[in-house]
Amino acid sequence: MAVNVIKEKCKGCSICVKNCPFEAITMEDRLAVIGTACTGCGVCVEKCPFKAIEKTEEEKEVKDLSQYHGVWVFAEQREGKIMPVAIELLGEGKKLAGEIGCELCAVLCGSGVAHLAEELYEYGADKVYLADAPELKDYTTDGYGKVIYDAIQEYKPEIVLLGATHIGRDLGPILAVKCNTGLTADCTKLEIDPEDKKIKQTRPAFGGNLMATIVCPNHRPQMSTVRPGVMAKAEREAGRKGQLVELKPCFQDGDIRTKVVEVVKTMKDAVSLTDADVIVSGGMGLGKPEGFALLKQLADKLGGVVAASRAAVDAGWIDHAYQVGQTGTTVKPKIYVACGISGAIQHVAGMQNSEQIIAINTNEAAPIFEVADYGIVGDLYKVIPAILEELEK
Ligand code: FAD
Ligand code: SF4
Ligand code: SF4
Repeated sequence: MAVNVIKEKCKGCSICVKNCPFEAITMEDRLAVIGTACTGCGVCVEKCPFKAIEKTEEEKEVKDLSQYHGVWVFAEQREGKIMPVAIELLGEGKKLAGEIGCELCAVLCGSGVAHLAEELYEYGADKVYLADAPELKDYTTDGYGKVIYDAIQEYKPEIVLLGATHIGRDLGPILAVKCNTGLTADCTKLEIDPEDKKIKQTRPAFGGNLMATIVCPNHRPQMSTVRPGVMAKAEREAGRKGQLVELKPCFQDGDIRTKVVEVVKTMKDAVSLTDADVIVSGGMGLGKPEGFALLKQLADKLGGVVAASRAAVDAGWIDHAYQVGQTGTTVKPKIYVACGISGAIQHVAGMQNSEQIIAINTNEAAPIFEVADYGIVGDLYKVIPAILEELEK
């Protein structure tokens, strides 16, 4: 798609400049010039009174989609440990691969990580593509991007799934651009269309007010990132074997433009909401930041961790790392206790898959009760001490 000014027709009225929503047009020598910010929206074509702007479709590259086979999962590891989201993706990938009738593969990058392939087979990978090189010791966009892009070019997977972690969110877009394909970020549901075997990727849209299902009909691979904690983990089958395919990473000087000098772990790394079996979460109903100390007592008693609504985070009562919801972490604990949380759709989007939801709220009409398995109408400052007292007994 290209948007061009027909010089002979342009009268220099600059109407297009004022109407372009992306400020992509400038005037040079009384002629409109379309800049690189142009998105091809076509507004200027309609607004030009002299029909001096045209939009032409470039010929679409037709890819032979039949060459693409298999579901790939990016097996993100840190410090030699497979991230839990990779195990969740293997569980989901197995289901998708079964419906398509293809193999499930894991892509493993790092330095000295070959032994992790065994674990990936046990979690369901039929094949592991391994890139083991000193340059891949720490994650870099260039290093991982190059190796995985080369592998995609050579082995042509039809689906690539990544965890929506900081690394996955960085790697997914770079791979999608290099492969000239689409990427659906933060999917909450993946399913295979029984008719054409394409993947249907569902994610919240418009502030979580509706769910959009996205397909990638003309390009391959079909790529998605999935938030940690959304999908069920794959079952481990001890002793299960698979096939190792060793990639041959080869880097020239300048291929990797960044150097990891030091990894500084912050508090955020210490909060693992996605792994917690019990979460005691607090919202504005706490009334003050000190309220989290009471929640911590309950969480400690139940062997769990504390979390929060965004409003509590925005109020500065607790760090963003603790936020549950659409713009925080998606969690799926065995027990989620929502204390003084109203149950806004954006919060519910991040915790509705919890096995048991217990809500404590003074307002019996609070929407949180619609998703709760057990609802306690009452003041959390009375209810929680009473629960603690019972637990003491
Ligand atoms: P409130 O809505 O103010 O609810 C407080 C509740 O506490 C009320 O129901 C009240 O009855 C109850 N209460 C008061 N006193 C007591 C008491 N003593 N004992 C018991 N109950 C009491 N929100 C998130 O949480 N996570 C997100 O990721 C997120 N992402 C968002 C993204 C977008 C694009 C937008 C627009 C919003 C997002 N939000 C998110 C904000 C969300 O819409 C709500 O504003 C927020 O969840 C409300 O937080 P809350 O329930 O703590 O506060
Ligand atoms: Fe030229 Fe049309 Fe833009 Fe006017 S609106 S400056 S005629 S391109
Ligand atoms: Fe601006 Fe849209 Fe015209 Fe591009 S097509 S110059 S973005 S109005």
